Amino acid sequence: MPKLYLIAGHTQGKDEGAQNLKTKETENLIARNILLQVFPKIKELIFTDLCPFDLTLDEQIKWVNKRASDNDYVVCLHLNSSPERKESGTLCFFYGGSEESKQKADAFLKVYAKEIGLRNAGLLADTQSRFGRLGIVRDTKGWAFLLEMGSINNDVETVKTKGTEALIKALKTLVGLSDAPVADNQLFADVPATHPDFEAVKWAKDKGVASGYPDGRLGVDEPLKVGRFLSFLKKYDNLSR
Ligand SMILES: [Zn+2]
Repeated sequence: MPKLYLIAGHTQGKDEGAQNLKTKETENLIARNILLQVFPKIKELIFTDLCPFDLTLDEQIKWVNKRASDNDYVVCLHLNSSPERKESGTLCFFYGGSEESKQKADAFLKVYAKEIGLRNAGLLADTQSRFGRLGIVRDTKGWAFLLEMGSINNDVETVKTKGTEALIKALKTLVGLSDAPVADNQLFADVPATHPDFEAVKWAKDKGVASGYPDGRLGVDEPLKVGRFLSFLKKYDNLSR
């Protein structure tokens, strides 16, 4: 199973265009409160660690990289803002240049937006941010995402009241723990039709080479252990007899 690392906001910089100068505190306070509610619930399902609050960006990156491996997940929570103060909705930054990162962000954001009832304002590569790159996405190990949970000008009440539950559902989807029923066209609980290996997985399931775990997952993004590799080989060999 992958591990999950959660980070609340940022201690440096300010979000331009928010309605008050204490934006950074407001954003961080909301993100922290939500994470304090999310943490005890999600850690029962998957190994989860909460980044200490008040670390600088560099310290947050070091904190993650000391713990995470390439297969783990990193989610950093923010609220978005614009100088016009008319922005609304939720959006998610992914690792620019990785189609797989984009697809994971897409599944994550869709569930979050639906559950919280905010407009899905779409996906952005970290390189499209106004900083040109996002260190917390680009410089950390694992699958790292920055979620703008809603607009600091227009969505704060919604985020405060519905953010926790929405985030738990979205995180479960992100790490492959979704308890949604497996759709007819879905092969395994953790292999949506958008998964980059969907076709190969379909072949393996149809042929009986891969049957997955009792909980309905294939473990599609897990590292492959020798034992499981050999059992795949054995089933494949049986096919040709
Ligand atoms: Zn922010």
